[in-house]
Amino acid sequence: MAQQPIITFHDGHSIPQVGLGVWQTPQEIAAPTVRAAIAAGYRHIDTASGYDNEEGVGEGIRSSGLDRKDIFVTTKLRNTDQGYDATMRAFEGSLRKLGMEYVDLYLIHWPSPHRGLYRETWKAFVKIREEGRARSIGVSNFYPDHLEQIIGDTGVVPVINQIELHPDFQQQAAQEAHKKLNIATESWSPLGQGKLIANPAIGEIARKHGKTPAQVIIRWHIDSGLVVIPKSVTPSRIEENFKVFDFKLDAADMAAIAKLDDKSARMGPDPYTANF
Ligand code: NAD
Repeated sequence: MAQQPIITFHDGHSIPQVGLGVWQTPQEIAAPTVRAAIAAGYRHIDTASGYDNEEGVGEGIRSSGLDRKDIFVTTKLRNTDQGYDATMRAFEGSLRKLGMEYVDLYLIHWPSPHRGLYRETWKAFVKIREEGRARSIGVSNFYPDHLEQIIGDTGVVPVINQIELHPDFQQQAAQEAHKKLNIATESWSPLGQGKLIANPAIGEIARKHGKTPAQVIIRWHIDSGLVVIPKSVTPSRIEENFKVFDFKLDAADMAAIAKLDDKSARMGPDPYTANF
């Protein structure tokens, strides 16, 4: 297997570019799913307090045969736990459920502007990082104006922003804004929740390279410099989604995928108005 690529954050820590997403992975199957991913070569798992599977993720990592330090673990703060003290308590809860002394990356899951608490929440994140209990801190679903607020308050720039991003929703403006601030971009729902597998343009590129549509889409995220966390609970698909390091998309492939971009193709809620 070719070596898996990493992205180095502005704080000096690195993240494996491909990870396993475990949203909608029930607690009961989280451990075997994580073990299957680690056996396939994954070294990065993306969970969240809101996925209600942190115990299973922790158990999967402990029973994988690898050391904790060899796996990059991301978790996220539940929106209802925003606020300085509530964040401190919630973070303790996540560590306890994961059975870990630290996480590699802690994210504010959504800005939830209607709560008016994300700026205070970021101050708690800065403290958690100072204590070394999260190696790196970042955000998810933040617009550039949310980023400006928290950076203005603290001078601390998130290492990453995890946002909805797939070949038909490419978020170029967000990617540009992140580049200017030295923030890595991470793609959630990278396969469009599976919908893009049937896209004819992707299918054509897949045939050309002798790869599957999922592999082409994941490779597109890699070649675009994005961190990518495809989700599956099916061991054969988990393996397939990781066999992406032995080919590259060429300029014609990238140009064909660029044409799929459609600003109206958002699948999840708009972070400005998401009121959960
Ligand atoms: P995804 O785009 O990764 O698609 C997953 C679906 O695609 C699977 O359920 C399956 O139906 C299909 N699939 C996967 N591999 C396949 C293959 N090889 N062949 C055919 N079909 C395949 O969707 P997602 O789960 O929404 O996103 C991935 C991860 O992103 C999540 O698990 C989670 O970790 C993260 N996420 C974060 C946020 C956020 O707000 N930060 C929101 C949504 C998702």
